[in-house]
Amino acid sequence: MAAGGDGLLARAVARSESVAALEIGRGALAETGRIWRAALGDRPALILADDNTWGAAGAGVEAALETSGVAHRRLILPGRPRVKPVRELGEEIAARIEGEETLLALGSGVLNDLAKYAAFVRDRRYLCVATAASMDGYTSGGSPLSDKGFKITIPCRPPVAVIGDLDVIAAAPPEMAGWGYGDLAGKVPAGADWIVADALGIEPVDDTAWPMVQDRLRGWLAAPEAIAGGQFEAIAGLFEGLALVGLAMEAHGSSRPASGADHQIAHLWEMENLTLAGERVSHGACVAVGCVAALRLYDWLIAQDLGALDVGAAVAARAPAEAVQAEIARAFPDPGVAARAAEETAAKALEPRTLCARLDRLRQVWPELRARLGAQVIPADEMAAMLRRAGAPAAPEEIGITQAKLRETVAAARFLRRRYTVLDLLDEAGLLSAALDACFGEETA
Ligand SMILES: [Zn+2]
Repeated sequence: MAAGGDGLLARAVARSESVAALEIGRGALAETGRIWRAALGDRPALILADDNTWGAAGAGVEAALETSGVAHRRLILPGRPRVKPVRELGEEIAARIEGEETLLALGSGVLNDLAKYAAFVRDRRYLCVATAASMDGYTSGGSPLSDKGFKITIPCRPPVAVIGDLDVIAAAPPEMAGWGYGDLAGKVPAGADWIVADALGIEPVDDTAWPMVQDRLRGWLAAPEAIAGGQFEAIAGLFEGLALVGLAMEAHGSSRPASGADHQIAHLWEMENLTLAGERVSHGACVAVGCVAALRLYDWLIAQDLGALDVGAAVAARAPAEAVQAEIARAFPDPGVAARAAEETAAKALEPRTLCARLDRLRQVWPELRARLGAQVIPADEMAAMLRRAGAPAAPEEIGITQAKLRETVAAARFLRRRYTVLDLLDEAGLLSAALDACFGEETA
Protein backbone atom coordinates (compact mmCIF):
# COMPACT_ATOMS: atom_id res chain seq x y z
CA MET A 1 0.00 0.00 0.00
CA ALA A 2 1.26 3.42 -0.91
CA ALA A 3 0.52 5.24 2.33
CA GLY A 4 1.37 8.78 3.41
CA GLY A 5 5.02 9.54 4.05
CA ASP A 6 4.82 8.95 7.78
CA GLY A 7 2.62 5.85 7.67
CA LEU A 8 -0.30 7.64 9.32
CA LEU A 9 -2.66 6.27 6.70
CA ALA A 10 -1.29 2.72 7.02
CA ARG A 11 -1.80 2.85 10.77
CA ALA A 12 -5.33 4.18 10.32
CA VAL A 13 -6.19 1.33 7.95
CA ALA A 14 -4.65 -1.20 10.34
CA ARG A 15 -6.82 0.22 13.13
CA SER A 16 -9.98 0.33 11.02
CA GLU A 17 -12.56 -2.30 11.88
CA SER A 18 -14.01 -2.22 8.39
CA VAL A 19 -11.48 -1.13 5.79
CA ALA A 20 -9.09 -4.02 5.20
CA ALA A 21 -7.11 -2.57 2.30
CA LEU A 22 -6.36 0.80 0.77
CA GLU A 23 -4.31 0.64 -2.39
CA ILE A 24 -3.16 4.01 -3.67
CA GLY A 25 -0.68 4.40 -6.49
CA ARG A 26 -0.13 4.65 -10.21
CA GLY A 27 -1.46 1.56 -11.95
CA ALA A 28 -3.29 0.34 -8.83
CA LEU A 29 -6.27 -0.60 -11.00
CA ALA A 30 -4.44 -3.77 -12.06
CA GLU A 31 -4.64 -4.98 -8.43
CA THR A 32 -8.45 -4.92 -8.40
CA GLY A 33 -8.92 -8.67 -8.97
CA ARG A 34 -6.31 -9.68 -6.42
CA ILE A 35 -7.75 -7.33 -3.78
CA TRP A 36 -11.28 -8.47 -4.55
CA ARG A 37 -10.28 -12.10 -4.06
CA ALA A 38 -8.48 -11.37 -0.81
CA ALA A 39 -11.37 -9.34 0.61
CA LEU A 40 -14.45 -10.93 -0.90
CA GLY A 41 -13.36 -14.40 -1.98
CA ASP A 42 -15.50 -16.06 -4.64
CA ARG A 43 -18.31 -13.54 -4.71
CA PRO A 44 -19.18 -12.37 -8.22
CA ALA A 45 -18.98 -8.61 -8.79
CA LEU A 46 -21.77 -6.32 -9.90
CA ILE A 47 -19.87 -3.29 -11.19
CA LEU A 48 -21.79 -0.08 -10.47
CA ALA A 49 -20.62 2.79 -12.69
CA ASP A 50 -21.98 5.62 -14.78
CA ASP A 51 -21.06 6.38 -18.38
CA ASN A 52 -18.23 8.68 -17.29
CA THR A 53 -16.60 6.42 -14.71
CA TRP A 54 -17.06 3.42 -16.96
CA GLY A 55 -15.19 5.27 -19.68
CA ALA A 56 -12.46 6.25 -17.22
CA ALA A 57 -11.65 2.79 -15.86
CA GLY A 58 -14.29 0.19 -16.77
CA ALA A 59 -12.08 -1.77 -19.15
CA GLY A 60 -9.20 -1.82 -16.65
CA VAL A 61 -11.43 -3.07 -13.85
CA GLU A 62 -12.91 -5.83 -15.99
CA ALA A 63 -9.50 -6.93 -17.22
CA ALA A 64 -8.18 -7.11 -13.65
CA LEU A 65 -11.21 -9.10 -12.47
CA GLU A 66 -10.83 -11.51 -15.38
CA THR A 67 -7.16 -12.08 -14.63
CA SER A 68 -8.16 -13.16 -11.13
CA GLY A 69 -11.13 -15.20 -12.32
CA VAL A 70 -13.75 -13.02 -10.65
CA ALA A 71 -17.16 -13.32 -12.36
CA HIS A 72 -18.72 -9.95 -13.05
CA ARG A 73 -21.69 -8.05 -14.48
CA ARG A 74 -22.20 -4.36 -15.17
CA LEU A 75 -24.80 -1.91 -13.93
CA ILE A 76 -24.05 1.33 -15.76
CA LEU A 77 -26.19 4.39 -15.01
CA PRO A 78 -26.46 7.39 -17.35
CA GLY A 79 -23.71 9.94 -16.66
CA ARG A 80 -25.82 12.94 -17.59
CA PRO A 81 -27.45 14.51 -15.76
CA ARG A 82 -25.30 13.49 -12.81
CA VAL A 83 -26.56 10.55 -10.77
CA LYS A 84 -28.62 11.76 -7.81
CA PRO A 85 -27.74 10.87 -4.21
CA VAL A 86 -31.22 9.70 -3.23
CA ARG A 87 -32.16 6.80 -1.00
CA GLU A 88 -34.74 5.46 -3.49
CA LEU A 89 -32.01 4.91 -6.09
CA GLY A 90 -29.92 3.11 -3.46
CA GLU A 91 -32.89 0.78 -2.84
CA GLU A 92 -33.21 0.13 -6.57
CA ILE A 93 -29.53 -0.75 -6.84
CA ALA A 94 -29.83 -3.07 -3.83
CA ALA A 95 -32.67 -4.89 -5.60
CA ARG A 96 -30.45 -5.45 -8.66
CA ILE A 97 -27.87 -7.47 -6.70
CA GLU A 98 -28.40 -11.14 -7.59
CA GLY A 99 -27.41 -14.32 -5.76
CA GLU A 100 -24.02 -14.10 -4.07
CA GLU A 101 -23.02 -10.96 -5.97
CA THR A 102 -21.81 -7.85 -4.30
CA LEU A 103 -21.02 -4.39 -5.57
CA LEU A 104 -17.87 -2.97 -6.98
CA ALA A 105 -18.42 0.80 -6.95
CA LEU A 106 -16.53 2.38 -9.82
CA GLY A 107 -16.84 6.11 -9.29
CA SER A 108 -16.57 8.90 -6.77
CA GLY A 109 -18.97 10.53 -4.32
CA VAL A 110 -22.48 9.64 -5.33
CA LEU A 111 -21.79 6.22 -6.85
CA ASN A 112 -19.78 5.17 -3.80
CA ASP A 113 -22.50 6.46 -1.46
CA LEU A 114 -25.19 4.58 -3.38
CA ALA A 115 -23.12 1.37 -3.42
CA LYS A 116 -22.34 1.76 0.30
CA TYR A 117 -26.03 2.03 1.08
CA ALA A 118 -27.14 -0.74 -1.34
CA ALA A 119 -24.52 -3.19 -0.06
CA PHE A 120 -25.53 -2.39 3.51
CA VAL A 121 -29.20 -2.98 2.72
CA ARG A 122 -28.25 -6.40 1.35
CA ASP A 123 -25.96 -7.05 4.32
CA ARG A 124 -22.77 -7.59 2.35
CA ARG A 125 -19.43 -5.84 2.02
CA TYR A 126 -18.38 -4.09 -1.19
CA LEU A 127 -15.26 -2.73 -2.85
CA CYS A 128 -14.65 0.73 -4.25
CA VAL A 129 -12.47 1.78 -7.15
CA ALA A 130 -12.17 5.55 -6.82
CA THR A 131 -12.16 7.67 -9.96
CA ALA A 132 -11.57 11.16 -8.49
CA ALA A 133 -10.16 12.88 -5.41
CA SER A 134 -13.45 14.71 -5.05
CA MET A 135 -14.73 14.03 -1.51
CA ASP A 136 -13.93 12.29 1.75
CA GLY A 137 -16.58 9.57 1.78
CA TYR A 138 -14.60 6.69 0.26
CA THR A 139 -13.51 5.25 3.58
CA SER A 140 -16.31 6.50 5.83
CA GLY A 141 -19.17 4.42 7.17
CA GLY A 142 -21.95 6.93 6.56
CA SER A 143 -23.83 7.38 3.32
CA PRO A 144 -25.19 10.91 2.85
CA LEU A 145 -28.36 10.53 0.81
CA SER A 146 -31.59 12.49 0.48
CA ASP A 147 -34.55 10.75 2.02
CA LYS A 148 -37.84 12.36 0.91
CA GLY A 149 -35.99 15.63 0.42
CA PHE A 150 -34.12 15.58 3.75
CA LYS A 151 -30.38 15.01 3.56
CA ILE A 152 -29.31 12.47 6.15
CA THR A 153 -26.13 10.53 6.71
CA ILE A 154 -27.27 6.92 6.91
CA PRO A 155 -24.99 4.77 9.09
CA CYS A 156 -23.71 1.93 6.86
CA ARG A 157 -20.26 0.33 6.58
CA PRO A 158 -17.25 1.53 4.61
CA PRO A 159 -16.05 -0.52 1.65
CA VAL A 160 -13.87 -3.48 2.62
CA ALA A 161 -11.21 -2.13 0.25
CA VAL A 162 -10.58 1.08 -1.67
CA ILE A 163 -8.41 1.30 -4.76
CA GLY A 164 -7.15 4.72 -5.80
CA ASP A 165 -5.27 4.51 -9.10
CA LEU A 166 -3.52 7.86 -9.44
CA ASP A 167 -3.41 7.57 -13.24
CA VAL A 168 -7.23 7.39 -13.24
CA ILE A 169 -7.70 9.99 -10.50
CA ALA A 170 -5.33 12.55 -12.02
CA ALA A 171 -7.13 12.19 -15.35
CA ALA A 172 -10.55 13.01 -13.85
CA PRO A 173 -12.09 16.34 -14.88
CA PRO A 174 -9.87 18.94 -13.11
CA GLU A 175 -12.75 20.57 -11.25
CA MET A 176 -13.25 17.31 -9.32
CA ALA A 177 -9.94 17.67 -7.46
CA GLY A 178 -11.08 21.23 -6.67
CA TRP A 179 -14.20 19.76 -5.07
CA GLY A 180 -12.07 17.39 -3.00
CA TYR A 181 -9.92 20.34 -1.97
CA GLY A 182 -13.12 22.17 -0.97
CA ASP A 183 -14.35 19.20 1.07
CA LEU A 184 -10.98 19.07 2.83
CA ALA A 185 -10.89 22.87 3.37
CA GLY A 186 -14.18 22.50 5.26
CA LYS A 187 -12.27 20.64 7.98
CA VAL A 188 -10.75 23.96 9.06
CA PRO A 189 -14.04 25.51 10.31
CA ALA A 190 -15.40 22.03 11.20
CA GLY A 191 -12.43 21.63 13.54
CA ALA A 192 -13.19 25.06 15.03
CA ASP A 193 -16.80 23.95 15.62
CA TRP A 194 -15.55 20.89 17.46
CA ILE A 195 -13.26 23.09 19.57
CA VAL A 196 -16.28 25.25 20.49
CA ALA A 197 -18.34 22.16 21.46
CA ASP A 198 -15.37 20.86 23.46
CA ALA A 199 -14.78 24.12 25.31
CA LEU A 200 -18.44 24.38 26.29
CA GLY A 201 -18.54 20.78 27.55
CA ILE A 202 -20.94 19.65 24.84
CA GLU A 203 -18.82 17.23 22.81
CA PRO A 204 -15.22 16.55 23.78
CA VAL A 205 -12.50 16.44 21.14
CA ASP A 206 -11.44 12.84 20.55
CA ASP A 207 -7.68 12.17 20.65
CA THR A 208 -7.84 9.51 17.95
CA ALA A 209 -9.96 11.16 15.26
CA TRP A 210 -8.80 14.75 15.78
CA PRO A 211 -5.14 14.25 14.78
CA MET A 212 -6.14 12.04 11.83
CA VAL A 213 -7.90 15.04 10.29
CA GLN A 214 -6.21 18.08 11.76
CA ASP A 215 -2.51 17.21 12.14
CA ARG A 216 -1.78 17.19 8.39
CA LEU A 217 -4.60 19.44 7.22
CA ARG A 218 -2.54 22.54 6.49
CA GLY A 219 -0.05 20.43 4.57
CA TRP A 220 -2.75 18.90 2.38
CA LEU A 221 -4.09 22.38 1.65
CA ALA A 222 -0.67 23.95 1.09
CA ALA A 223 -0.29 23.52 -2.67
CA PRO A 224 -3.57 24.46 -4.34
CA GLU A 225 -1.98 25.19 -7.74
CA ALA A 226 -0.43 21.73 -7.90
CA ILE A 227 -3.87 20.23 -7.23
CA ALA A 228 -5.42 22.31 -10.01
CA GLY A 229 -2.52 21.29 -12.27
CA GLY A 230 -3.16 17.60 -11.63
CA GLN A 231 0.36 16.90 -10.33
CA PHE A 232 0.59 13.30 -9.16
CA GLU A 233 2.18 14.06 -5.82
CA ALA A 234 -0.35 16.74 -4.95
CA ILE A 235 -3.28 14.60 -6.06
CA ALA A 236 -1.90 11.66 -4.07
CA GLY A 237 -1.65 13.87 -0.97
CA LEU A 238 -5.19 15.11 -1.50
CA PHE A 239 -6.53 11.59 -1.94
CA GLU A 240 -4.67 10.33 1.13
CA GLY A 241 -6.01 13.25 3.16
CA LEU A 242 -9.55 12.54 2.06
CA ALA A 243 -9.11 8.83 2.83
CA LEU A 244 -7.77 9.61 6.31
CA VAL A 245 -10.72 11.88 7.03
CA GLY A 246 -13.10 9.07 6.10
CA LEU A 247 -11.27 6.72 8.46
CA ALA A 248 -11.43 9.36 11.19
CA MET A 249 -15.21 9.45 10.85
CA GLU A 250 -15.31 5.67 11.13
CA ALA A 251 -13.02 5.76 14.17
CA HIS A 252 -15.16 8.42 15.86
CA GLY A 253 -18.47 6.84 14.90
CA SER A 254 -19.90 10.04 13.44
CA SER A 255 -19.05 12.76 10.94
CA ARG A 256 -18.13 15.22 13.73
CA PRO A 257 -14.39 15.12 12.83
CA ALA A 258 -15.22 16.20 9.28
CA SER A 259 -18.34 18.27 9.27
CA GLY A 260 -19.71 21.35 10.99
CA ALA A 261 -21.55 24.49 9.96
CA ASP A 262 -19.74 24.40 6.60
CA HIS A 263 -21.44 21.09 5.77
CA GLN A 264 -24.81 22.13 7.20
CA ILE A 265 -24.81 25.11 4.84
CA ALA A 266 -23.78 22.86 1.93
CA HIS A 267 -26.42 20.25 2.78
CA LEU A 268 -29.17 22.85 2.51
CA TRP A 269 -28.18 23.63 -1.07
CA GLU A 270 -27.80 19.94 -1.84
CA MET A 271 -31.29 19.30 -0.45
CA GLU A 272 -32.62 21.99 -2.76
CA ASN A 273 -30.89 20.26 -5.68
CA LEU A 274 -28.93 23.39 -6.46
CA THR A 275 -28.02 23.39 -10.13
CA LEU A 276 -25.81 25.59 -12.24
CA ALA A 277 -25.94 25.51 -16.04
CA GLY A 278 -28.20 22.47 -15.86
CA GLU A 279 -25.86 20.37 -13.68
CA ARG A 280 -26.24 19.58 -9.99
CA VAL A 281 -23.63 21.55 -8.03
CA SER A 282 -21.26 19.03 -6.44
CA HIS A 283 -20.92 18.39 -2.72
CA GLY A 284 -17.34 19.70 -2.61
CA ALA A 285 -18.29 22.92 -4.42
CA CYS A 286 -21.12 23.55 -1.94
CA VAL A 287 -18.78 22.80 0.99
CA ALA A 288 -16.12 25.17 -0.41
CA VAL A 289 -18.59 28.06 -0.31
CA GLY A 290 -19.97 26.90 3.06
CA CYS A 291 -16.41 26.76 4.39
CA VAL A 292 -15.67 30.38 3.49
CA ALA A 293 -19.02 31.46 4.99
CA ALA A 294 -18.27 29.63 8.26
CA LEU A 295 -14.78 31.13 8.39
CA ARG A 296 -16.26 34.60 7.91
CA LEU A 297 -18.36 34.02 11.02
CA TYR A 298 -15.22 32.93 12.88
CA ASP A 299 -13.34 36.04 11.73
CA TRP A 300 -16.17 38.09 13.24
CA LEU A 301 -16.52 35.98 16.40
CA ILE A 302 -12.82 36.06 17.25
CA ALA A 303 -12.92 39.86 17.09
CA GLN A 304 -15.61 39.98 19.83
CA ASP A 305 -15.05 40.14 23.55
CA LEU A 306 -17.30 37.40 24.84
CA GLY A 307 -15.69 37.68 28.26
CA ALA A 308 -17.90 40.76 28.64
CA LEU A 309 -21.07 39.07 27.32
CA ASP A 310 -24.26 40.19 29.09
CA VAL A 311 -25.60 36.73 29.94
CA GLY A 312 -28.86 37.97 31.47
CA ALA A 313 -29.69 40.02 28.38
CA ALA A 314 -28.85 37.14 26.05
CA VAL A 315 -31.10 34.73 27.96
CA ALA A 316 -33.93 37.29 28.16
CA ALA A 317 -33.69 38.00 24.42
CA ARG A 318 -33.97 34.32 23.49
CA ALA A 319 -36.63 33.66 20.84
CA PRO A 320 -39.60 31.71 22.24
CA ALA A 321 -40.13 28.16 20.95
CA GLU A 322 -43.07 29.25 18.75
CA ALA A 323 -40.91 31.84 16.99
CA VAL A 324 -38.27 29.18 16.30
CA GLN A 325 -40.97 26.87 14.92
CA ALA A 326 -42.18 29.65 12.63
CA GLU A 327 -38.65 30.32 11.42
CA ILE A 328 -38.17 26.62 10.65
CA ALA A 329 -41.46 26.52 8.76
CA ARG A 330 -40.34 29.53 6.70
CA ALA A 331 -36.93 28.01 5.98
CA PHE A 332 -38.30 24.58 4.99
CA PRO A 333 -41.50 24.83 2.94
CA ASP A 334 -41.89 21.01 2.77
CA PRO A 335 -43.76 20.04 5.98
CA GLY A 336 -42.01 16.65 6.22
CA VAL A 337 -38.59 18.30 5.98
CA ALA A 338 -39.63 21.02 8.46
CA ALA A 339 -40.75 18.37 10.97
CA ARG A 340 -37.37 16.65 10.82
CA ALA A 341 -35.54 19.96 11.15
CA ALA A 342 -37.70 20.81 14.18
CA GLU A 343 -36.74 17.49 15.77
CA GLU A 344 -33.02 18.15 15.26
CA THR A 345 -33.38 21.68 16.65
CA ALA A 346 -35.39 20.53 19.67
CA ALA A 347 -32.61 18.07 20.55
CA LYS A 348 -30.25 20.97 21.32
CA ALA A 349 -32.72 23.45 22.84
CA LEU A 350 -31.91 24.53 26.40
CA GLU A 351 -33.95 25.59 29.40
CA PRO A 352 -33.14 29.20 30.41
CA ARG A 353 -31.24 28.04 33.47
CA THR A 354 -29.03 25.67 31.49
CA LEU A 355 -28.47 28.30 28.82
CA CYS A 356 -27.45 30.74 31.50
CA ALA A 357 -24.90 28.26 32.87
CA ARG A 358 -23.52 27.62 29.39
CA LEU A 359 -23.10 31.32 28.65
CA ASP A 360 -21.41 31.84 32.02
CA ARG A 361 -18.99 29.12 31.06
CA LEU A 362 -18.48 30.76 27.66
CA ARG A 363 -17.53 34.02 29.39
CA GLN A 364 -15.03 32.19 31.57
CA VAL A 365 -13.39 30.11 28.87
CA TRP A 366 -13.44 32.84 26.22
CA PRO A 367 -9.78 33.94 26.43
CA GLU A 368 -8.58 30.36 26.04
CA LEU A 369 -11.25 29.45 23.51
CA ARG A 370 -10.50 32.53 21.43
CA ALA A 371 -6.82 31.58 21.35
CA ARG A 372 -7.62 28.00 20.31
CA LEU A 373 -9.93 29.23 17.56
CA GLY A 374 -7.38 31.77 16.38
CA ALA A 375 -4.82 29.00 16.00
CA GLN A 376 -7.31 26.73 14.17
CA VAL A 377 -8.90 28.96 11.55
CA ILE A 378 -7.60 30.44 8.34
CA PRO A 379 -9.04 33.91 7.60
CA ALA A 380 -11.98 33.70 5.18
CA ASP A 381 -10.38 35.83 2.46
CA GLU A 382 -7.18 33.81 2.59
CA MET A 383 -9.11 30.55 2.34
CA ALA A 384 -11.16 31.95 -0.56
CA ALA A 385 -7.95 32.70 -2.46
CA MET A 386 -6.60 29.20 -1.75
CA LEU A 387 -9.83 27.58 -2.97
CA ARG A 388 -9.77 29.57 -6.20
CA ARG A 389 -6.15 28.59 -6.82
CA ALA A 390 -7.21 24.95 -6.42
CA GLY A 391 -9.95 25.45 -9.00
CA ALA A 392 -12.77 25.44 -6.46
CA PRO A 393 -15.48 28.06 -6.01
CA ALA A 394 -15.33 30.33 -2.95
CA ALA A 395 -18.05 32.96 -3.31
CA PRO A 396 -21.77 32.13 -3.46
CA GLU A 397 -22.18 33.68 -6.92
CA GLU A 398 -19.76 31.09 -8.29
CA ILE A 399 -22.32 28.37 -7.58
CA GLY A 400 -25.37 30.46 -8.50
CA ILE A 401 -26.25 31.68 -4.99
CA THR A 402 -26.94 35.38 -4.28
CA GLN A 403 -25.61 37.12 -1.16
CA ALA A 404 -29.18 37.38 0.17
CA LYS A 405 -29.69 33.65 -0.33
CA LEU A 406 -26.36 32.92 1.36
CA ARG A 407 -27.48 34.88 4.41
CA GLU A 408 -30.78 33.01 4.46
CA THR A 409 -29.01 29.64 4.20
CA VAL A 410 -26.50 30.40 6.93
CA ALA A 411 -29.34 31.54 9.22
CA ALA A 412 -31.27 28.29 8.65
CA ALA A 413 -28.36 25.84 8.60
CA ARG A 414 -28.35 25.24 12.35
CA PHE A 415 -31.86 23.74 12.15
CA LEU A 416 -30.62 20.87 10.02
CA ARG A 417 -28.60 18.99 12.62
CA ARG A 418 -28.43 18.70 16.37
CA ARG A 419 -24.64 19.03 16.05
CA TYR A 420 -23.38 22.13 17.89
CA THR A 421 -21.49 24.64 15.74
CA VAL A 422 -20.51 28.29 15.62
CA LEU A 423 -24.08 29.01 14.48
CA ASP A 424 -25.48 27.68 17.77
CA LEU A 425 -22.91 29.57 19.79
CA LEU A 426 -23.82 32.83 18.05
CA ASP A 427 -27.52 32.12 18.40
CA GLU A 428 -27.35 31.27 22.10
CA ALA A 429 -25.21 34.30 22.83
CA GLY A 430 -27.78 36.51 21.07
CA LEU A 431 -25.22 37.49 18.43
CA LEU A 432 -26.43 35.65 15.34
CA SER A 433 -28.25 38.54 13.65
CA ALA A 434 -25.36 40.92 14.27
CA ALA A 435 -22.89 38.38 12.90
CA LEU A 436 -25.01 37.66 9.82
CA ASP A 437 -25.44 41.39 9.12
CA ALA A 438 -21.72 41.99 9.47
CA CYS A 439 -20.66 39.00 7.38
CA PHE A 440 -23.34 38.70 4.70
CA GLY A 441 -25.21 42.02 4.61
CA GLU A 442 -28.51 42.95 6.19
CA GLU A 443 -31.62 40.92 5.64
CA THR A 444 -33.66 41.85 2.60
CA ALA A 445 -37.41 41.92 3.17
ZN1 LIG B 1 -18.04 16.34 2.79
